[in-house]
Amino acid sequence: MPELRPDALTGRLVLLAPGRSSRPHTTAAVAAAGEVTPPSCPFCGGHEHETPPEVARTGDGPPDGPGWRVRVVPNLYPIVGGPEAGPGATGAHEVIVLSPDHGAGFGALDDAQAAEVLTVLRDRARFHAEAGRAHVQLLINQGRAAGASIAHPHAQLLALDFVPPTVAVAVDRFASTGTDLVLDDQAEAIVAGTGVIVGTEVRAWCPLGSVSPFEVRIAALAGGATIEAATDRQILGTAVVLRDVLRALSRALDDPPYNVVVHNSAAGPRAAAGSEPPFHWWIEVVPRIGVVAGFELGTGILVNTVDPETAAQRLRALLDLETE
Ligand SMILES: [Zn+2]
Repeated sequence: MPELRPDALTGRLVLLAPGRSSRPHTTAAVAAAGEVTPPSCPFCGGHEHETPPEVARTGDGPPDGPGWRVRVVPNLYPIVGGPEAGPGATGAHEVIVLSPDHGAGFGALDDAQAAEVLTVLRDRARFHAEAGRAHVQLLINQGRAAGASIAHPHAQLLALDFVPPTVAVAVDRFASTGTDLVLDDQAEAIVAGTGVIVGTEVRAWCPLGSVSPFEVRIAALAGGATIEAATDRQILGTAVVLRDVLRALSRALDDPPYNVVVHNSAAGPRAAAGSEPPFHWWIEVVPRIGVVAGFELGTGILVNTVDPETAAQRLRALLDLETE
């Protein structure tokens, strides 16, 4: 039976309708269509001259030459920033190439690689926050259906000169309830049996208000308002849990396209002054196996065809297999 569920963390409404999931989705063909593949890939090792000059790297070698492990370059087609940007559209848009390996998504990285990638992301976010940007968003779009135009696994950073309405509303929601909605959401999942699917200090769970099949949330228990302020230990823990979750999703759903979104508070003077806004940064992982159609566009209510209880059971079983 369909069920309407409000999600206190995001303010979204979801209609849980497992009966609609009778037809399995196959996404591999969709994900591959139109993607750039080697040898024409600008993100592969040896093709460094095909991107704008890099702004950061880890590993060895000269700038814009091979030898790097993680590489950061300005986005050639920025959403914000660049010399032509109009009012409100200033900022920075960077691409973080996860590794020189075209086939290695975040789920394929080892512990050290995953931690290094997330450390670079945090440090770039820090750089832009300290430069006075109002908000830094970090994300991974993996697969064509998730918005990636280049197949080579990469993350993106958007540093904005304003606080987006969704972020402002989220911070207000924390302030007005006077509670840590991320920890509440996780506690609710534990009671319902959809959490914790993996992790201790950093945990992953399937939210009761999952708007998409196999949605997963990840947060460090002691996380603050921004990823910029995360400790090395939190970054390492988060990186390993995120990697494990993506690996399990890949097995559960046959390598689906997905989005990873870091929900981050506003940066800027408040954070810099040490008085953080009431927020808890967290990560949302959404496999793109559903379609936003007319009902969703007209009502703003998302329809989820997979019960989070079912998703959590499946992911937990796969994660248990990994650790045996
Ligand atoms: Zn490549």
